[in-house]
Amino acid sequence: MQHKQHPLISPVPGTSRHVDSFHFGCRGNGKKVYIQASLHADELPGMLVAWQLKQMLKTLEQEGKLNGEVVLVPVANPIGQNQHLMDVHLGRYELETGQNFNRGYKDTFPEVKQQVAERLTKDVDANKQLIRESMLNALAKWQPQTELQSQQKVLQTLSCDSDVMLDLHCDFEAALHLYSTYYSWSGIEPLARCLGSKANMLADDTGGNPFDCSTDMVWQRLNAEFGDMIPQGCLGATVELRGQADVTDEYAEHDAKAIVAYLVWLGVVAGDADDMPETLAPSSDLAAVETLKTTQGGVLVLKVQPGDWVEAGQIFAQVIDPITDSIEEVRVTQAGYVYSRTIRRMATAGMLIGNVAGSEIIRSGYLLAP
Ligand SMILES: [Zn+2]
Repeated sequence: MQHKQHPLISPVPGTSRHVDSFHFGCRGNGKKVYIQASLHADELPGMLVAWQLKQMLKTLEQEGKLNGEVVLVPVANPIGQNQHLMDVHLGRYELETGQNFNRGYKDTFPEVKQQVAERLTKDVDANKQLIRESMLNALAKWQPQTELQSQQKVLQTLSCDSDVMLDLHCDFEAALHLYSTYYSWSGIEPLARCLGSKANMLADDTGGNPFDCSTDMVWQRLNAEFGDMIPQGCLGATVELRGQADVTDEYAEHDAKAIVAYLVWLGVVAGDADDMPETLAPSSDLAAVETLKTTQGGVLVLKVQPGDWVEAGQIFAQVIDPITDSIEEVRVTQAGYVYSRTIRRMATAGMLIGNVAGSEIIRSGYLLAP
């Protein structure tokens, strides 16, 4: 295992942060898998999973069982890790700018397209290598102005030449679920199967350029531009490891073992891939997710649990105004799987209180949460 440190821009004199990465196996030998945790810094189940994975990968490396490279970043957001306000950890948005830590990654597509257009050949492996070098070049030329941008640059540089990149997050209160792209899904589905994920939402164009599609969508667009001489270069997924409070040894061990089983399936860890669960993981369109919102403020009484199946018309929550006695009933409009709900119990008007994975397309445009 190699431990590397990547310094960030120091925002003010007397402070400095860095991102730590841990490298297992051999660079350039087999596939490269990149795994990071807690990009939303107050989402900590993934950090515990990453720590357990680190111990497992050390052992696998010592036993000579790694046939590829794994890069692990257990603390992907040191900036957000230190944002505490009055005993509350605020890790989703940078306090300086209000920017969501998982939005606005650099889109390398225009530069990569320009750099490779005249140099592509019929040799798809050579093209793959060329495109990866071009992505690294585009990132190397990027001159971040802020600490946050320098953190984004480090994470993208560590991950952009990988075959698979996994971003470990969690929701507020949730069942385990995944977000990925149609482009990546066939190679991510086995991970969802190993994890036992029952809700896997797919979209190729979510808007917002989050971390998990910052690389696979470049490959997809290159493929659309140049055709079959562009191979499938990178698969990406955001893995939502239940809710914020679900930081337990048992969950983490289950999830870390599932990720190792997936690494076996990928051929990065030696082992028997026949041990995979046989039933394919389901998937649905991200635009078929019903985002349930309130229309008034009040005490929020949730009537369903993450993991529940709900029918159209079923009540999701009541919002009670104890002054006017007005009671709002928030109902689902299509049947589906409740995969997450808010952690707050005082609703504000227009607040998102939960998500149900349905089957009918009911949304368009920007598909992510704020
Ligand atoms: Zn998150």
